[in-house]
Parts: sequence; C-alpha cells; structure tokens
Amino acid sequence: MPRPIEALIHLPHLAHNLARARACAPDAQVWAVVKANAYGHGIENVFEAFRAADGIALLDLDEAQRVRALGWRGPILLLEGCFEARDLELCSRLKLWHAVHCEQQIDWLAMHKTHEPHRVFLKMNSGMNRLGFTPQAFRAAWTRLNALPQVDEISLMTHFSDADAQRFGQDGIAHQVAAFQTATADLPGERSLSNSAATLRYNQLGHVRADWVRAGIMSYGGVPDYPEHDATHWDLKPGMSLRAKVIGVQQLQPGDTVGYGSSFTADKAMRIGTVACGYADGYPRHAGTGTPVLVDGLRSRTVGRVSMDMLAVDLSDLPQAGFGSEVTLWGQSSRGAVLGIDEVAKAAGTIGYELMCALTKRVPVTVVHGD
Ligand SMILES: *Cc1c(COP(=O)(O)O)cnc(C)c1O
Repeated sequence: MPRPIEALIHLPHLAHNLARARACAPDAQVWAVVKANAYGHGIENVFEAFRAADGIALLDLDEAQRVRALGWRGPILLLEGCFEARDLELCSRLKLWHAVHCEQQIDWLAMHKTHEPHRVFLKMNSGMNRLGFTPQAFRAAWTRLNALPQVDEISLMTHFSDADAQRFGQDGIAHQVAAFQTATADLPGERSLSNSAATLRYNQLGHVRADWVRAGIMSYGGVPDYPEHDATHWDLKPGMSLRAKVIGVQQLQPGDTVGYGSSFTADKAMRIGTVACGYADGYPRHAGTGTPVLVDGLRSRTVGRVSMDMLAVDLSDLPQAGFGSEVTLWGQSSRGAVLGIDEVAKAAGTIGYELMCALTKRVPVTVVHGD
C-alpha cells in the first residue's frame, strides 16, 4: 500500500475561482496564470477547469508546449518573454504572445524571420524594479517595436508591487497606476495591469482601461491579502487539498518531548498522532508547534518539529481520532471542513503561494471532479 498521503485538485473549485476573477473584472478578459506548473497543481490537472479563461499565461516555453499539446488554441502569453533569440522560433510556431521587457528582446525580434508578425505585451517598470522599461524609456521602446515588421499588435502591461496592502500612506497601486497612465495616455493598444490582489481589491484603476487581468493565486483559492482578508471574504475555494493519515499514536506524560530536537515538551498527559506527511512532501519545516491542521475535519494543531516524512498532531481533545484518522494539512477535509492554505503558510512564516508550489513529486495527485 502506498504511504497514506495525497493531494487533491478540486476542479469545481478552480472553475469557481476563475469565475470570481471574471466577476471582479467584468469588462476585462482573464488570463489564467499557470506558471510554476500551475502553482504546483499540475498544468494537465487544472487545464479542464481553466478552459473558460480567455488566455493562459505562463513563463516556460516547455509549459507553453504542454498547454498547446492539451489542445488549447487560444492565447498563450509568456509573461517574461523570450530568454534567448531562438525562443522566438517557438513563439512563431506555437503562436505565443510574449512580453517584451528589455532592449535585447527587441534586438532579437528585429532579427527574427517570421511570416506572421507577433503579438507582444510591452512591459513597463512602473515602480517594482524587476522587469520592464522605465516610464521615460517606454515610448522609445514602443516606437522601436512599432516599426518592426515582425510585430503585429502591441499591448501594454505593468505589474504591481503592493496591490495586496495599503502602503505609502495610500492604496498600494496609485503611484504605479499614475506612472503608467502618464507614460501611456496617448498610446494605442490593450492594457493589462492587475494581478489577483489588484483584481480583488480594486474595481477601478483610475482612468486606465483594464483589458486583461492576470489571475494567478486567486484562481487556486489562495488569498493574496491574507490575513487582512480570508478566502471566505473573497469567496474563493481551495484548489488543492493536502491530506494524510495518522499512522501511529503515542501517549505522553508530563515532561515527555516530541520529535527531533525535543522542541516540544508536554506539560500534561497528552495523546498525539504521527502523520504520514513531512517536509519531503512539501509541508513547510518551519511550521512550528501550533500550526493548524484538521483531524477528521476537526481543528487541531501540530506539535514539535516537522521531520522529513512525518509530523505530529495533538489528539488530546479529539477522543474519537486515532490510528487511520484523516489529517488535512491544508484545503478541504473529506467531511467538507476547510483549512485555508494561507493560515498554514502564516504559521510557517511564508505565503500560500510557496506552499502550493512546494508540493513534491512523491505526493500522488488525484483530480476531483465533484465537491
Ligand atoms: C505571477 C504573475 C501574475 C499573477 O500573480 P498573482 O499574485 O498570483 O495573481 C501576474 N502577472 C505577472 C507578470 C506574474 O508574473
């Protein structure tokens, strides 16, 4: 029998979340962002649920090929564009739209031989200082691109650093929206600004049109602005559940310790369950004592250090629980109770994004079509 651990991918939840993105931005088209192997869910696993998207956005050419192999004929956007000149051949062959964020990428396009000009998304660095042309350099880049026979339509995009919180004494996007607006006001082309946080939190971006929103984490049920808001507030449902079972039970006396480093000491008699899930499955080792879990759908907590293949949970207040009990590390229990991945992430000092992406290969994945 395989180790009792599995990840479930909930297709109806993913479809629901994508519909939420659409509802938040009714005038925009929606990119389902499936980079990092669909945030750890598996591109092939989520594809069915995201068919309703207007486009699929990702980073790796390999992932773009996988999406085409699934039969997707709609738009695919390479969010970081090409990494070397010959990537453009694949863009031509697979009809990939691609970001253009630096001069080198324009140089490669200028030398590229293609019969069909490419649709590109010219990226502005409006303040995040990661990728893109500064507002001052943006127009020159646009003019250069616009003169190339290799280029068809030019769309305009930027990315927010602080859409998830109030910063700079105001909302976190105003200064970037203003920079974008000023530098692009008289340029033609579709606009794409918002990630999940901006899609959920901001209905309007000043006077900037939002033709495309890029729904990443929200599509998977992750909450970009947790703990200010939670999944119930935004009406998002977990795309992934990680479930394992109790494979051993121990009775502790006061003074007994649990796990490596004896980091937890019982101060009273306790009953704990050893669960078949550890950091080699992608569960965060930094999750300390007290990280929430569901045991047979009821809330409990971890105790002691997470080890490679196991972790311990407190069963003291759950007399019915024991050997074989289901432990939901995040997501939905088989009884329907939900433990938000963001809550677990917070206890481990990270974000839901990282936990989803960290699920490891050895965890078998089941795609769930119903509730
Ligand atoms: C990953 C990514 C997104 C999606 O971000 P979420 O916070 O997951 O919604 C949007 N745009 C770009 C450029 C990205 O790289």
